[in-house]
Amino acid sequence: MGDILYIVVPCYNEEEVLPETARRLKEKMEHLIAAGRISEESRVLFVNDGSRDKTWSMIEGLHRADRRFSGVNLTRNRGHQNALLAGLMTAKDRADMVISMDADLQDDIDAVDAMVEQYYAGCDIVYGVRSSREKDTFFKRFTAEGFYRVMNFLGAETVFNHADYRLMSKRALEGLAQFKEVNLFLRGIVPMIGYTTGTVEYERGERFAGESKYPLKKMLSFAMEGITSLSTKPIRYITVLGFLVFVVSILMLIYSIVRWANGETVIGWASVICSVWAIGGLILLALGVIGEYIGKIYLETKERPRFLIKEVLDQHEGD
Ligand code: UDP
Ligand code: MG
Repeated sequence: MGDILYIVVPCYNEEEVLPETARRLKEKMEHLIAAGRISEESRVLFVNDGSRDKTWSMIEGLHRADRRFSGVNLTRNRGHQNALLAGLMTAKDRADMVISMDADLQDDIDAVDAMVEQYYAGCDIVYGVRSSREKDTFFKRFTAEGFYRVMNFLGAETVFNHADYRLMSKRALEGLAQFKEVNLFLRGIVPMIGYTTGTVEYERGERFAGESKYPLKKMLSFAMEGITSLSTKPIRYITVLGFLVFVVSILMLIYSIVRWANGETVIGWASVICSVWAIGGLILLALGVIGEYIGKIYLETKERPRFLIKEVLDQHEGD
């Protein structure tokens, strides 16, 4: 009999896909159990992130019919990352390994086998990596690629083309639990944990049903969160920028003195106004960047809980 696997699935208004997701995950689990790769006590753990539709009552129904399905109900909507974290922290004490995936079946469930094999081969973290983004719209591909490039440029270590489909061992999760930041950007934090890691390639499909819960606005704020929580380099660049502007001002000063010594005066309304606006813009930009970080410090110092759990449904032999 193998180790205990928990598959954590955050769900927000996913009533349209939930039955199919549950069916396929159950099938996969049964298969792995029959092959002796995972324990009988393995579970699919759905996290209800304050859905407004029937998602939670469906999870309750699944659990009642089959204890292979477990559920965590959050007190309200906290967003994908927090819901995922709630699931991981709940699963941490019950499982030997945990796989996280989205509810919409975009992540190929068949990659689970390879992840489990790598776990037994000694990996504590196995990243699911998309082999291609053909199914994504051009826009999503373009913005996602830009995001990874910016992150890399800013010195934050992220795994290219890896979303939140990954396996983590118990001890990797215990490591994760020690990262106390309120605003947790999992994709950037997980590589910091260390241990032996592996990757599994998979084809990312289209959303099975329903709509993306990540509209552009959320995507942008997600990217901004990621950058400000993983890197302080933007502040460094402001220093560099300030220095460059200073150098330019010195050059201009020398230029005007030389012209003045030759009995000429530099005239020009345009040059004055342009520099005033340019410098003003740069100062506001710099203040904005610094403000982002100060806001972050403010929110972090409050140490508010990242999620609150209303109830947990999880049943085992002898309970
Ligand atoms: N999700 C969540 N809380 C939210 C938004 C999304 O738990 O506030 C879940 C959602 O149910 C799904 C996963 O996060 O399982 C990824 O969302 P989605 O598929 O909409 O994002 P996309 O794949 O379009 O980036
Ligand atoms: Mg999706």
